[in-house]
Amino acid sequence: MINKQHLAFAFILGLLGLLVNLYPIPLFGNQQLIIGNLFFVIVAIFAGPWYALITALLCSAGLYLAWDSWHMFLLFPLEAIWLGFARRRDVYSLFADICFWLLLGMPIFYLFAELVFELPDSYMTFITLKQGINGMLYTALGSIIVTLLPSGLHIKDRVSTQKRKSFNAQLTYTFTQILTLALLVSAFIFNNNSINQQQIDVKRNLDDSANHLGLATQTFIDNHIRAIDNAARWLSFTDQNTSKWQGLLTKLHQSYPYFISMLIADEQGLITAASPISRLGKDTLNNKSLSIKDRHYFQEAFYNQLSFISPAFLGRGFGNDPIVAISAPLYDSRDRIKPRGIIEGSLNLTKFAQIDERNREYQQQAMVLVDENNLVIYASKSLEMTPLTPLKSSTIGLKYKTSLDMINFNNLSSSSPEFAFSKYVLKNGWSLYVVMPFSPLIKQVEQQYLTTFTILLFAFVTTVLLIQVISGRLTEPLESIAQKFNQWGKDNKALEQLNDSTPLEIYTLSKSIQQSKQALISYQLELEEKVAIRTIELEDANAKLQSLAEKDELTQLYNRRYAESHFPAIHDMCKRSYAALAFCIIDIDHFKQINDTYGHQAGDTALIKLAQLMKAYFKRDTDIVSRYGGEEFLIILPQCNALQVEQHLDQFREQVHQTAIVINESLSINISISAGLVISNAGYINDIDHWFKMADLNLYEAKAAGRNKVISTQLASDD
Ligand code: GH3
Ligand code: MG
Ligand code: MG
Repeated sequence: MINKQHLAFAFILGLLGLLVNLYPIPLFGNQQLIIGNLFFVIVAIFAGPWYALITALLCSAGLYLAWDSWHMFLLFPLEAIWLGFARRRDVYSLFADICFWLLLGMPIFYLFAELVFELPDSYMTFITLKQGINGMLYTALGSIIVTLLPSGLHIKDRVSTQKRKSFNAQLTYTFTQILTLALLVSAFIFNNNSINQQQIDVKRNLDDSANHLGLATQTFIDNHIRAIDNAARWLSFTDQNTSKWQGLLTKLHQSYPYFISMLIADEQGLITAASPISRLGKDTLNNKSLSIKDRHYFQEAFYNQLSFISPAFLGRGFGNDPIVAISAPLYDSRDRIKPRGIIEGSLNLTKFAQIDERNREYQQQAMVLVDENNLVIYASKSLEMTPLTPLKSSTIGLKYKTSLDMINFNNLSSSSPEFAFSKYVLKNGWSLYVVMPFSPLIKQVEQQYLTTFTILLFAFVTTVLLIQVISGRLTEPLESIAQKFNQWGKDNKALEQLNDSTPLEIYTLSKSIQQSKQALISYQLELEEKVAIRTIELEDANAKLQSLAEKDELTQLYNRRYAESHFPAIHDMCKRSYAALAFCIIDIDHFKQINDTYGHQAGDTALIKLAQLMKAYFKRDTDIVSRYGGEEFLIILPQCNALQVEQHLDQFREQVHQTAIVINESLSINISISAGLVISNAGYINDIDHWFKMADLNLYEAKAAGRNKVISTQLASDD
């Protein structure tokens, strides 16, 4: 079932993510900080994996437009789904994200980068680490935003928390979130600042070195140009015999040992003097058989009459060293117009190694000196360049964004820069490059990221441990208070759980709970006492109620209901024991007259007296003597002697008649009763109405026969 609200939520946040991701924050090199992905973190938490996938695809589209790689379409949707499922399993997002990058994200990215990006190994660890750290940063941001969102924010059917989290877990997670955010943001800022500073330093060092080496080289060349110039001038002016020039040249050479060789040639370009003479050979010199007329340095000096410094070339005649020739025209002192020859010195290129060596305080730096034709005159050994070959370089690495100038010497098509450099151009058109390998810089950045990661890990562990202790101070006493609550009596056992580090609130809570408990106990005791008293009172009232229900209030005899309800049981009992049952209705004669004559009170007194007599006369436990209503009484006598019962009743009638009923001090009266009696053996019909009717017939007969009589019938049982 697609939830439309979730879908809209995923789309809106996805579009926000797309917008934010269009402008990633630039870091060192080609690296950028991604923030927009925090939106799919939020969706994963609220709506689960599949909606988060939609958001992640949109966020990735933003990055796709900003970069031109498609790896984000692989990684970030996977991360979003992972976070969504983790949320369903109640795993905190940040913890889940750390696991994601360690287990899947970084390995996948590494593989991908290896296959697609063609980056040198030195960058791989750095950019892979950056992915993971960046992931943690936006996940921390996203989950903090979720935590801070007002809880009233209503998203229907949002993924709900299944398990109640312990205080400990909640506290740990909150701290971890804050820690991650604070540490990573500050790490990114400070790393970036320090890297920028470092680049400025590197650039300054390179510029310094280039200036220093360039000046040294310039001075070296200038000195030797001046030497040749001075020699030329001196030879031209002194106008000495040319036969002495060989000696003079040899002397001059001794003052300038960095010339590998020196020579003087005449207007034909034939060598007339040379030093060291051994290298050329005496015969060659004497025969003037070696011509340098075709040489550039001869032509420039002789025909153009310039002091000249040549590009690098391979020497000839004096050996096959790569050399640079410095030449100047020689004149006759009388004829200053047309030169009579040239003087030349070949500079030893290995001298630059000494200049280079002076620069050795910057171990990582190297230098390259090229002539105006871009031929390598000298290169530091580490660069492995052959002198007199053209310098091959490319600046394709400039795509890589740093404030440094970059150059590649080896892999000319790689977009990863190999060297940062600074260039110094000499007066004669030569260029001096001072270069520094780029990868140590990356290594340093990588080191910083690794350090950040390690600090973060350490901080995680410390946080977890610390919070364990702190939250323990809260939760342990709480739990023990809860557990012991039932066991608490008046003792102080629970308070023993508390110690100095127990927070004040818990201490107060514990004390007040204990006090409440004690109050509760005493209240309970009080209540129990009250209940006991009430129970006794209730029992009394019940007994009263019972007797009210069973007894007649005036005579204290059983009432009609009692007699009727007990009749079936009495009947059954007699039937079981084959015993006789007597059923007798007694009615006071002319009772109306008594009431009328002596008053109602006198009537009541008579009723009470009659009842007393009845109780005295029919006193077996099983006998039921009841007031049936008004001045009529019903007597049920189970297991009676059928033969004697009539007589017994008649004696009672006589007794009543004889008994004077004292109404007051001055008045006593006599009453008489009539009685209708039926006696039957067990097994006679158990319908009380029938018995009553039969007895009532007898009573009627007794009244009719003149009253004060007992009429009795023996009923025959059906069986
Ligand atoms: P008989 O000999 O035919 O039975 O005449 P009688 O007057 O006894 O009979 P009747 O049924 O005419 O009168 C019954 C009288 O009993 C009527 C009533 O006022 C009186 N009575 C009924 N219950 C009470 C009572 O609780 N107290 C008093 N004082 N009188 C009662
Ligand atoms: Mg009556
Ligand atoms: Mg009567």
